[in-house]
Amino acid sequence: MELNKIKYKRHIKPFDTSKKPIRSWKILSWVAMVVSKILTRGKIGKLEKINMEGLKPPYILLSNHQTFTDFEINAILTYPEKFHSIATFEGHYGFYGIRAYLMEKVGCIPKRKFTTDPHLVSSCNTVLNEYGDILSIYPEARYTDIGTTSPISDSYAQLIKKFNKPVVAVVHRGNYLRAPFWNWQRERKVKTYTTMKKILDPEDIERMSCEEIIAVVRRELWHDEHQWQKDNNIIIDEPWRAEGLHKALYQCPHCLAEHRMLSKGNKLWCVSCGKEWEMTELGELRATSGKTEFSHIPDWYNWEKENVRREVEEGRYYFEDDVDVYALPNVKKFIKLGKGKLTHSLENGITLEGHYNGEDYKIVRPSRGLYSIHTEYNYCFLKHDPCIQISIADNTFICNTHKKDVVTKVYFAVVAIHEKLMRERAENKQKKLDAEKQKDDKKE
Ligand SMILES: [Zn+2]
Repeated sequence: MELNKIKYKRHIKPFDTSKKPIRSWKILSWVAMVVSKILTRGKIGKLEKINMEGLKPPYILLSNHQTFTDFEINAILTYPEKFHSIATFEGHYGFYGIRAYLMEKVGCIPKRKFTTDPHLVSSCNTVLNEYGDILSIYPEARYTDIGTTSPISDSYAQLIKKFNKPVVAVVHRGNYLRAPFWNWQRERKVKTYTTMKKILDPEDIERMSCEEIIAVVRRELWHDEHQWQKDNNIIIDEPWRAEGLHKALYQCPHCLAEHRMLSKGNKLWCVSCGKEWEMTELGELRATSGKTEFSHIPDWYNWEKENVRREVEEGRYYFEDDVDVYALPNVKKFIKLGKGKLTHSLENGITLEGHYNGEDYKIVRPSRGLYSIHTEYNYCFLKHDPCIQISIADNTFICNTHKKDVVTKVYFAVVAIHEKLMRERAENKQKKLDAEKQKDDKKE
């Protein structure tokens, strides 16, 4: 058995990410803008450009990520300039490769999530230095679970430093409130507000350290939809507004039971202790009796995240589940691999094991190098089931979980493990430096 390899029934060519991005025809930018305007009809509230006077491509455009509508709004905002999006590889899936063909034609750069792709830097170089166009990136590389910006990798600072081009931040507001990730199928009546702001000039980038650059990026892309809703008195009065929220808020703050939450209408409750909360029209939670532990939804989510972090720090974290596995080596077809077993721990990272086409297989992503992971509550390409996605250099595995509402916890654990490893690495490096310094001092 070869690690990270699947023996298929026939030869399957993995999707080639080494292709040079295409510079699209001007007419296609216009088509993308017109189609985007049609698709977002009635959804867009306000588009605002800040500090953008006189700015011409090439530049790097960084956006927060809430729903697919972000792509459409960006196409409208950047028109008539040509832009190239680093787009998740599965976004190219559909219609037997036709969608991939079209995305390629409009200049998209396909990328498997949370993997190191040696061709990516050269594609970025083509866009910025050869074509002089806009390079559009969604640095969170996933939709927001709960309306707040997800972690952004330090590596974007190196990319910004390397190319030394102006950086523009696009902050989308309202897309999550209209179609939250935990129930995107039913849209609410919320208008968007998007700002496009130049945040860094080449002179800034030259004098700033990578730490300072990433701090600016994180600060400028930070957004909290539920706070924005309250601050702007945005009423969401759909009677079913809380439905699906239990997928993100999976732990009861009253009895601490995990994966025992449910939701219906405007209510959220725990089947273990019976405690119930209702969601107000301003998106706040209120216990129907007794103390309200968290009225602000992201506070509940962050409390869960802290609990997982503690589990990781104290060595108590371990996850396993039986999963239904689909592979997506190229964008033409999901290949059903059948049942598999998914485990996750600090020591062994994410491991997927199964049996397909007469052979066992084992897919591993070690904890080192895995700073985040893609999870979905209702995966649009398959049966709208929750899933955890494992990407490796030439394949992507979609694992539909069997246990109830576990994907958020696995995501938290991946982030917590990565942060722990990074912290330990920095501490070890410092210890070594201190030891060397002590040695030198003694010699003197
Ligand atoms: Zn409970």
